[in-house]
Amino acid sequence: MQKELQIRVLPEVAGEPQLLEETLIQKEGLAAEDLRHIEILRSSIDARAKQAYYNLKVRLYINEGYEPEKISLPNYPNVSNAEEVIVIGAGPAGLFAALELMENGLKPVIIERGKNAKDRIQDLKGINVKHIVNEDSNYCFGEGGAGTYSDGKLYTRSKKRGDVQKVLELLVGFGAVKQILVDSHPHIGTNKLPKIIANMRKCILQNGGEIHFNTRVTDLITDSSSIKGVVAQDGTKFHAKNVILATGHSARDIFELLYRKGIEIELKPLAIGVRVEHPQSLIDTIQYSCESRGDYLPPAAYSIVKQVGDRGVYSFCMCPGGVIAPCATAPGEIVTNGWSSSRRARSTANSGIVVELKPEDFKPFEKYGPLAAMEFQRSIEQKAWVEGGKTQTAPAQRLRDFIKGDVSADLPNTSYAPGITSVELGSVLPDFIHKNLKEGFLKFDQSMRGYLTNDAVVHAPETRTSSPVKIPRDHETLQHVQISGLYPCGEGAGYAGGIVSAAMDGMKCAKRIRVSTK
Ligand SMILES: Cc1cc2nc3c(=O)[nH]c(=O)nc-3n(C[C@H](O)[C@H](O)[C@H](O)COP(=O)(O)OP(=O)(O)OC[C@H]3O[C@@H](n4cnc5c(N)ncnc54)[C@H](O)[C@@H]3O)c2cc1C
Repeated sequence: MQKELQIRVLPEVAGEPQLLEETLIQKEGLAAEDLRHIEILRSSIDARAKQAYYNLKVRLYINEGYEPEKISLPNYPNVSNAEEVIVIGAGPAGLFAALELMENGLKPVIIERGKNAKDRIQDLKGINVKHIVNEDSNYCFGEGGAGTYSDGKLYTRSKKRGDVQKVLELLVGFGAVKQILVDSHPHIGTNKLPKIIANMRKCILQNGGEIHFNTRVTDLITDSSSIKGVVAQDGTKFHAKNVILATGHSARDIFELLYRKGIEIELKPLAIGVRVEHPQSLIDTIQYSCESRGDYLPPAAYSIVKQVGDRGVYSFCMCPGGVIAPCATAPGEIVTNGWSSSRRARSTANSGIVVELKPEDFKPFEKYGPLAAMEFQRSIEQKAWVEGGKTQTAPAQRLRDFIKGDVSADLPNTSYAPGITSVELGSVLPDFIHKNLKEGFLKFDQSMRGYLTNDAVVHAPETRTSSPVKIPRDHETLQHVQISGLYPCGEGAGYAGGIVSAAMDGMKCAKRIRVSTK
């Protein structure tokens, strides 16, 4: 017989199978030999009170053997001779779209400006060590998109459980640990993602799909109302009647191309701020109300939102035990974001802290029309580059100094490999963002006592929180409102915010193509 139940246990009980078994035997009044297996279905930490607990949903196998569920990939048909669909961009949206197309008997032809996941590493070294930004291969561009060398947190606010489950199961099928199906806040880690992405590529190629790396799309072939194909940088033309445009939030040349061609796009407000790094031990102490977190709790995360006047100030993409990464996609700009390894073993915790922006904030850039938010974003990144010393060195300030407006006399080491330089960040950030951040940090400290410390370092800027542009599509068909056969998809088009939601949007667009062509 199987029995499911919910229990709340101390971290050491959750972390020691023997203790968990004893606890369950006692709680359920079972004979030890009758309990054959405990399957953990869901695991989450509740650290709201002084003592942290694990909430576990478990399935007990009582006098019944346990057969682990096999997570296998769909049986993809060979699509070498099937109708071709062009997918621009091999990020989560593009890759999951490609897989879904194959599942539905269509042939994905992926066109990706960057290199394969392995070859990207040289270019990441180039940014971190030599301060050289390759415009086609960096933390945002290349196989797997911004998802490959990302943190790999797989949280989403989406309520579509079936679709979320499909994304997670595919990731497991391609090599992610099964634990992501259990954790309430699943995480893969930068060290594991490239292999998973490479496995996806192998599967796409083995089943007849095509992938063209080092191929930047520079033009779309259209007539007045429909797409016909795309043109690559070297002039090569690819033809198809359906094109999924999944180029991510940093493909500024694509936004500019659409605007130039008169293909409708809309300004999309986003959030901008800084990335702050604390000692992980401090965040553990605050979040777990303890001196040190011990062996049974993971490095603590935080997620915080405060209202400052009429704007939200909130944490974004928090990386416990993580590293701040240089995520610029062009020379002459500084962009920060964060990642962590699967073990989250670093001694530092970083998070974007960003201010919600509104359409009126982009007024000074209105001559750029729907690209105004993108130009606003770019102007901050360029200012940071100038103030940082015209390399990938990021302008930075200790947190208390940031609040007081003092230039920091010295800066501690941070995880940001290209280095940091002491700058009063009021010279980088627009006034209203600077002010709102200061007030936000003060409010954070009221909820997380000890957060406001000069041991924390503020790095500027955090600008790529979501797309500055929305590419409008028909609600039903998901095709561009003006150009049929063109499917704006994923984060860059304004329909996703993270790995899982981008992957889900990719699958959603691919599904519609099946409906429209058969
Ligand atoms: C350092 C870092 C950490 C992150 N951590 C997390 C996290 O923990 N959890 C999470 O959910 N999200 C995280 N994100 C965000 C996440 O990676 C993105 O939300 C997600 O990758 C968006 O998917 P996408 O497919 O829509 O676009 P992208 O991943 O941006 O992919 C777009 C692809 O299109 C390609 N492309 C662009 N222009 C062209 C062109 N002209 N021709 C051909 N190809 C082109 C790019 O090279 C890229 O590969 C992180 C991002 C970064 C940078």
